[in-house]
Amino acid sequence: RDPSALSPLTVILANPRGFCAGVERAIETVERTLKQMGPPVYVRHEIVHNQRVVTELERKGAVFVDEVDEIPPGSVVIFSAHGVSHAVVAQARERALYVIDATCPLVSKVHKSATRFAEKGYEIVLIGHAGHAEVEGTLGRVPGPVHLVECEEDVQHLNVRDPQRVAYVTQTTLSMSDTRAIIKALRRRFPSITGPDTDDICYATQNRQNAIQTLAGEVDLILVVGANNSSNSNRLRELGERSGKPTYLIAEADQLQPQWLRGVKRVGITAGASAPEVLIREVLTELGRHRRLSVTELPGPVETVKFALPEGIAGKT
Ligand code: SF4
Repeated sequence: RDPSALSPLTVILANPRGFCAGVERAIETVERTLKQMGPPVYVRHEIVHNQRVVTELERKGAVFVDEVDEIPPGSVVIFSAHGVSHAVVAQARERALYVIDATCPLVSKVHKSATRFAEKGYEIVLIGHAGHAEVEGTLGRVPGPVHLVECEEDVQHLNVRDPQRVAYVTQTTLSMSDTRAIIKALRRRFPSITGPDTDDICYATQNRQNAIQTLAGEVDLILVVGANNSSNSNRLRELGERSGKPTYLIAEADQLQPQWLRGVKRVGITAGASAPEVLIREVLTELGRHRRLSVTELPGPVETVKFALPEGIAGKT
């Protein structure tokens, strides 16, 4: 028997955690569209990378598809927060779909900045993870070739037309420290490279990464609530691991393993930007089945970012 089983467990919640403004906007977009236009409303790709959110919206009448060609012509389609390529926009037009674009404005900003650089004749380097929906979208938004760089080593293998005319942009949900190192490597190789002031990592990703680092100093174990395919949640898991504290990414409370709590006095919990707070409540309930809990929350910056709803939604604010 675990001798710590009867001892109290201090739970410390990271702050901020969970939903960001882009995710809130994307979910509200689907909910409002369902109310205004009635089901079915088609959504290309998971609206945000979280199964609970997807299931809840499916229950209300949303139909999730991987590609636009699965949607009956003339239907309503919502593009997910991660953004889409020009090719997807063109396919939607060909099928006469009514498009509502829930791409996070901070992702659209990256599309615009990359396009501006490309139009000025720069060759674009995109720092990001191959295969992620946001990266696919950004790659397909920029005129001309885009080089995807995932790590410092990739920088050495870049083959560009003119080393004097290179610009970079980044995925919004990357690790701040890894990205800094990659940008440094790019600057070493292309001293005149241009790009954003620092990078395109969004405020929500930055705040959640800072928060988990503060949390790591306070606890013996870290739980990151988020989906396996959520980029920012995986970055939080990595940061927890790098702090030296055992860290687990769990999508649902039932993935919690009681043996993780052996000898643990203080557990820290955070959540990726696409994970709803209800999942944290459920993790607390699950923890409470094993130990007596005392729950506190760390202080953190107050996030006031709020985005207007996309075009095409009646009564948008
Ligand atoms: Fe937008 Fe950042 Fe949220 Fe992604 S994580 S939806 S870029 S605010």
